[in-house]
Amino acid sequence: MFKSAHIKLTVYYTLIIMAVSLFFSLIIYQITTSEIERKIKTVGQKLIIQEITPFLADKPFDFNNKQLKLTGNIKKIEEVLENEISSAKSGIAIKLAIINFVILIFSTIASYLFSGYVLKPIEENMTMQKNFISSAAHELRTPLTSLKTSLEVALRSKAIKKNKSIYDIIADNLNEVNTIISLSNRLLDLNKYQNDNNIVLTTFNIKDVIYSSVKRIKHFAENKNIKIKVKSNDIKLNADKNAIEEVLLILLDNAIKYTPKDGEICIENFVKKNTAVIKVSDTGIGIPKKYHKKIFERFFRVDSSRSRHINTGFGLGLSIAKDIIDLHNGNIKVESTPNQGSVFTIELPIKKA
Ligand code: ADP
Repeated sequence: MFKSAHIKLTVYYTLIIMAVSLFFSLIIYQITTSEIERKIKTVGQKLIIQEITPFLADKPFDFNNKQLKLTGNIKKIEEVLENEISSAKSGIAIKLAIINFVILIFSTIASYLFSGYVLKPIEENMTMQKNFISSAAHELRTPLTSLKTSLEVALRSKAIKKNKSIYDIIADNLNEVNTIISLSNRLLDLNKYQNDNNIVLTTFNIKDVIYSSVKRIKHFAENKNIKIKVKSNDIKLNADKNAIEEVLLILLDNAIKYTPKDGEICIENFVKKNTAVIKVSDTGIGIPKKYHKKIFERFFRVDSSRSRHINTGFGLGLSIAKDIIDLHNGNIKVESTPNQGSVFTIELPIKKA
């Protein structure tokens, strides 16, 4: 992320410096060439006067003959002057071009160094923030897991089962603990997939990953009587298998969450121009067009009143999915119509062996 920001900033700085340099070069060119032109023309006029004077002094006056000779000489002087002016102009233009080329090289190097200097504290801050999030999430995991175990054990106790109000309180607490555990897992995933060093490439069949993710999530769909259709083809992909499975789980999980009971979800894959395409479509509540880009941002959730009954999200799933797809140089997009459904499309480049 910082590499591309560094390059972008370098390009912007260089463009600004070059725009200023070219602007002043143009002004310098205009001023110097018009001054040279003026000077050369003045010299030319003097030469022409010098040429004319002896002719006028000559006697007897053979007008035709003299005029012919005079016109020829003046033309020659004018030609010489024109040549001088144009060679002076091209000389100045070449010098200015060389100066601008040197400025371009120096400004590119200076811009690269300067943008690195400007971005460094931001990068350090981001790294600190990432480290803090991942340490906090890690630190939270152990106490939360032991809390979860104690609550689960308590719920199984006969004494608590007898007392409904206490049972409900403990069950609610267990739900909350599960929510915090899944938030800390999401935060860890978010950190993990921002760094391409965490990607492990292997060659696998997308069909297998589709089937395994559908298998893992199927019972949530069954609870809502949602049908999952799979139209899968054998496609070999060189990518991080676990990360791609994570993306499919996020999309399928969302499709189930945001599709009302008795709905339908379809997952399919095919090849299009050296690209593996995976589509996850649903007959759910859909997403208004104005949010189609925003849903891939961190912590963004579409209008909470719309999904008030769906309280298991943090607005992190799609941004993690996008990070993973970006790390694979792929593309993820959504087409959706409110109250009709959504189609999420992933495109991943297939490398030729
Ligand atoms: P969340 O954990 O809230 O689901 P996501 O990042 O996965 O977070 O999704 C962001 C938002 O995009 C969700 O809050 C939801 O409003 C919308 N969204 C995602 N997938 C779907 C879908 N299949 N149908 C309708 N809305 C969706």
